[in-house]
Amino acid sequence: MAVDLHLHTTASDGTLSPSELVHKAVSLELSALSITDHDSFGGIDEATAVAREHDIELIPGVELSSYYRGQDVHILGYFIDYRDPVLTERLRYLRESRELRARKIVEKLSDRGAEVTWADVEKYAKGEAVGRPHVAQALVDRGVVGNISEAFELYLGRNGPAYVPKYVLDLEDIFDIIHGAGGLASLAHPNHWGADRKVIEKLSDRGLDAVEVWHIDHSEEDTRLYTEIANELGLLLTGGSDCHGARKKHGFVIGTLDIPDEIIEPLRDRAAEIRAEHAAN
Ligand code: AMP
Ligand code: ZN
Ligand code: FE
Ligand code: FE
Repeated sequence: MAVDLHLHTTASDGTLSPSELVHKAVSLELSALSITDHDSFGGIDEATAVAREHDIELIPGVELSSYYRGQDVHILGYFIDYRDPVLTERLRYLRESRELRARKIVEKLSDRGAEVTWADVEKYAKGEAVGRPHVAQALVDRGVVGNISEAFELYLGRNGPAYVPKYVLDLEDIFDIIHGAGGLASLAHPNHWGADRKVIEKLSDRGLDAVEVWHIDHSEEDTRLYTEIANELGLLLTGGSDCHGARKKHGFVIGTLDIPDEIIEPLRDRAAEIRAEHAAN
């Protein structure tokens, strides 16, 4: 059976609610899914309840951002105790920073004649973690741009006039926080920044446990290459579609990558080891 371990809901910048997403996974006959919203576990309780009714495994996950050598690096956390107080507090701070940043982006846009208000953005950012896709949607709504991609190209992208960097955690902090909450850390979509063997080895030395080898933006060659690197370095494999629903160019890609369910047990075992190590310390 197939699994999908990288999915976003309305708790961050996805367009399906946690319940809708789980129902979708059930209809696709997946055996497990993980919800990995940006900086939030806001979707997990609702998803867990629905998953229980339908006999599908829901793995609590999260996607955290960092910068490494000038690149945007995303780390996925799995099998986490999502009620962990340290983690909860850190995520709360990240979400507060996201809101301040989004408000700054709105100001910059208005200064440049791209008329959009915080209220417009809030309409879409109903969940917990507000991000650039919500601002992009508001710009589309206002007719400032024709579509989401154009919003990033003209305003919100890294070199755009309304770009505001996001407050992020250090990578080592991220590994510690995830491990401290009993979870394991996987390197998300490594091809987005061309992560190579050398750099993945460095991350592995610092605490990385796994690599996301299946991803909607990975070619078969990428998947083969990253699987080889992970195997060489003794890292586990993860994979997911990174489905955001309607707001991303790929659309509703949940479940389309045929990721084998055999990857789950090694991940579960590793998380159990991490918890045992932390309990012993
Ligand atoms: P943020 O966390 O607020 O910096 O926003 C990051 C989100 O914006 C991620 O989900 C990205 O995939 C999405 N994103 C980044 N660039 C683009 C783009 N050119 N078109 C559509 N979505 C994008
Ligand atoms: Zn996202
Ligand atoms: Fe990501
Ligand atoms: Fe993602």
